[in-house]
Amino acid sequence: MSADCAHVHRAGRVAASRAARYACVGSYNGSSELERRIHTTGLLEVDHRLVSAPYLRVVEQRTDGTTLLTQWDFRVTQPNVQRMSTTTAHSLEHCLGVFLREATQSVLNVGPMGCLTGFYITTVGMDGYDSMAEVLEQALSLTTSIESVPLANDRQCGWARDHSAEAAVRIASALLASRAEWHQVMAE
Ligand SMILES: [Zn+2]
Repeated sequence: MSADCAHVHRAGRVAASRAARYACVGSYNGSSELERRIHTTGLLEVDHRLVSAPYLRVVEQRTDGTTLLTQWDFRVTQPNVQRMSTTTAHSLEHCLGVFLREATQSVLNVGPMGCLTGFYITTVGMDGYDSMAEVLEQALSLTTSIESVPLANDRQCGWARDHSAEAAVRIASALLASRAEWHQVMAE
């Protein structure tokens, strides 16, 4: 097992076989089994009572043989314990959407979860867990120095009045402070 995959193999205690099959994005090198067939899997679920936020994990991967699509779960707050305010989630969504795309062309989409405890991030060709964590760290670092939320205007946003740069800075700082724990999905 590579270090990159350790986080998902812990989650594998919950969904062992599928975790082992699909989670090792870090080992993807273009010639694996992933490349030889199209994957259509259900969402790789974890028990939300057993996780330890914040964390970053692979939810699902698909490939047509040449392009690897990955959906990530970036969990920001502890499920069923705490959630972001709509303002915080909205402003952090804008920051991640802009800064992740500036950092890499692999990020296709960043979307807040309806429960407001995290974000789904969709990537194309992202080549490993560590790469994703690094660009996420970069995007959050940029967020900590914003004076205004990007794209927070009524031409580019659907509810431009609902933003707070201070809230985005605050949550980005908190997430960076726990950067060393992102790979740990399940509580000990
Ligand atoms: Zn918006």
